Amino acid sequence: MILGEDSSNVILFFMIYMPSPNYNDRPAGMAITSLIIHYTGMKSAEDALQRLCDPHSQVSAHYTIHEEGTVYQHVETRYRAWHAGLSKWKDLENFNDFSIGIELVNPGYEHGYRDFPNVQIESLLKLIRDLYSIYPIRPDLVLGHSDIAPDRKRDPGHLFPWQRLIQENLAIRP
Ligand SMILES: [Zn+2]
Repeated sequence: MILGEDSSNVILFFMIYMPSPNYNDRPAGMAITSLIIHYTGMKSAEDALQRLCDPHSQVSAHYTIHEEGTVYQHVETRYRAWHAGLSKWKDLENFNDFSIGIELVNPGYEHGYRDFPNVQIESLLKLIRDLYSIYPIRPDLVLGHSDIAPDRKRDPGHLFPWQRLIQENLAIRP
């Protein structure tokens, strides 16, 4: 799918719109083929949501999924959210250009890393299935932040249940 042909936003019934100013245009004609999974790595969900929407932070993601399963949308998927930073995977770089960034609320290794609750993962799976129905997502490009920025990032970490995604053919792990 060529960007621009689809001006629709992904709205799901359990989604809360909490806009972030931290985005820009994707490169013209760039298809969305990748999903990048993150954890928020902050003490609380409130802190994380505030940071993702703070113009001074210069970071964002398209979605944040709360541990209770609620999905927040910060940036419309047709725009380029700022979640990946310097990134590289095989012959691909600049993942922000062609990916959708999904944050999972979790304090992360620095603030008390813990299991991702099942309800949170269920919401993630539903969101990913919906995104597959809209965009030409490649299962081999459904990756963690640590895959594309291994020197800087550890999220989503060893507790993230990749197996759940693999079972549903939503991801292929390297
Ligand atoms: Zn990240």
